[in-house]
Amino acid sequence: MVLPGSNIVIGPYAGHAQIKEVEFVKSSGRAKDCPRDGRPEFAILGRSNVGKSSLINALVRKKEVALTSKKPGKTQLINHFLVNKSWYIVDLPGYGFAKAPGSVRMDWSAFTKGYFLNRDNLVAVLLLVDASVPPQKIDLDCANWLGRNNIPMTFVFTKCDKMKGGKRPDENIRNFQELMRENYRHHPPWIMTSSVTGLGRDELLLHMSQLRNYWDQ
Ligand code: GDP
Repeated sequence: MVLPGSNIVIGPYAGHAQIKEVEFVKSSGRAKDCPRDGRPEFAILGRSNVGKSSLINALVRKKEVALTSKKPGKTQLINHFLVNKSWYIVDLPGYGFAKAPGSVRMDWSAFTKGYFLNRDNLVAVLLLVDASVPPQKIDLDCANWLGRNNIPMTFVFTKCDKMKGGKRPDENIRNFQELMRENYRHHPPWIMTSSVTGLGRDELLLHMSQLRNYWDQ
């Protein structure tokens, strides 16, 4: 079965997908300070304002989680949330602050690079892409960097309920995918979501359960 609003095929590995409990574990300033219990984890990444807090909130259905990750001082940290005592959602600093000078952007990549390149228990990165705007170079650059470093990723298109400047989200998504196709033989998994309507929420959790179960094998 292909999940609606995605290219994701769900097979027998998909299993328990619901979130029963979630607890904040810690904020880490460096990759080597992250939890070392080896539980599988998903990193959530995207441009600031892409809708990351809203999506995390919609996934876990708990406001405190997204609030924690928005607290001043924590936005530039790697925040670990333990789900059902068995796997992590990892909130990474947003990239591409419009007003940040180039040097600040560089700091982001140096800091987060260490995390991506050294995290053995990383199942996949959920790369959030705003579907209400045309493709942004910074998102494509980020996707290409992850791809070049063989880091598994899923494109999670956010704000799919929203129309801006006459462009429909599905048109923006198609344009984004065409640009990605220039660099990928196989397009990574992608899924449409909206934190306003709840579109894609259960499907994304099912996809994550399938990836977790593959990873466990
Ligand atoms: P973050 O900076 O990536 O954590 O982004 P936020 O979650 O704070 O969202 C940024 C802005 O986008 C806020 O004004 C949200 O209300 C809005 N937003 C987030 N998700 C959605 C969505 O699915 N649909 C719409 N229409 N707006 C959204």
